[in-house]
Amino acid sequence: MAHLVTLIPGDGIGPEVADATRRVLEVTGVEFRWDVQEAGAAVMDREGTPLPNRVLESIRHSRTALKGPITTPVGTGFRSVNVALRHELDLFASVRPSRTLPGVPTRHPPLDLVVVRENTEDLYAGIEFERGSEAAGRLRQELRRLGGYEVAEDAGVTVKPISVTGTRRIVTFAFDYALRNSRRRVTVGHKANIMKFSDGVFLRTAGAEATAYPDVEFEAVQVDELAMRLAWEPETLDVLLLPNLYGDILSDLCAGLVGGLGLAAGANLGWEYAVFEPVHGSAPDIAGRGVADPVAMVSSAAMMLRHLSERQAADAVEGAVAEVLIEGEHLTPDLGGAASTDEMSRALARAVRTERRAPGVPA
Ligand code: ATP
Repeated sequence: MAHLVTLIPGDGIGPEVADATRRVLEVTGVEFRWDVQEAGAAVMDREGTPLPNRVLESIRHSRTALKGPITTPVGTGFRSVNVALRHELDLFASVRPSRTLPGVPTRHPPLDLVVVRENTEDLYAGIEFERGSEAAGRLRQELRRLGGYEVAEDAGVTVKPISVTGTRRIVTFAFDYALRNSRRRVTVGHKANIMKFSDGVFLRTAGAEATAYPDVEFEAVQVDELAMRLAWEPETLDVLLLPNLYGDILSDLCAGLVGGLGLAAGANLGWEYAVFEPVHGSAPDIAGRGVADPVAMVSSAAMMLRHLSERQAADAVEGAVAEVLIEGEHLTPDLGGAASTDEMSRALARAVRTERRAPGVPA
């Protein structure tokens, strides 16, 4: 039976890497019914919002989406589409694997780590008070009354809520993930010595929940020390469990450790819905030039195939990525080659080997 999947090409390089990904998926033999939904800058003028309700409705119906990057229009007052999607669909877990790929030079021994990032709380909760606004003034007064806190009159304020409930589900998710994927250790990054009541909740809840998983080692590290370890000896790390903001920063760092943003895949998961998307943004500097690296989006699609229980096809797509990288003949400029997105995606499609390959598709 065909899988119904919402496809959001996105903007910038999004449509280019989305087309490339469809080409690769088509030869796996897995059938899809794509519900293509435009979102982002392209629909702003027509529909007055970068994230029309029809996009959310489509995902609520299909339950699975493959998404390209979407730029948040600057200065329009719109919230980031990516953040809004995660909130609306309660996609509380972001999973970003960073594995050394064959043929891609890195500075470290082979790496295989995964960032599990809490996606809904923390400084990303969207609770903000604009500098000079009436609300910011009232907040200052209230803070003075509550605890004698003096916030500068010309300060903007962002609030950092971290709850036991929100942390518990991401901790459980991370440990279940570790068990399912034969991982040895979960390392929590925090700054609980400074942010006692937000990171403190994260750290203590993680420690308490970890006791239910005696087969997975639990380690807590201050996030600044974790950054140092990632630069110095990243091979000592396995699953990183992080609150929202640290997760955002360190997952880009991890992408850099294994060859850059053009290769890094990701998934946003909740109890009900799953949205698969590359870690990179819309890369306006190279958009429309046909040189974007399609691997991040293709690898995100491989994660989606696994989620849809299409393991064989997922293996075939990942195998194709490895083969094209090793062969080194059809690489985009970010990987030191001169191939276009189109040429690299054709090479990837040719390299997909599966018994279930669509009949009549030339090798
Ligand atoms: P955003 O704010 O949406 O994250 P950004 O421009 O700050 O966007 P990215 O779009 O993630 O950040 O990318 C940063 C740079 O990395 C890009 O400008 C581009 O040069 C490079 N890059 C990102 N993705 C790719 C890709 N798929 N192929 C090649 N280069 C890429």
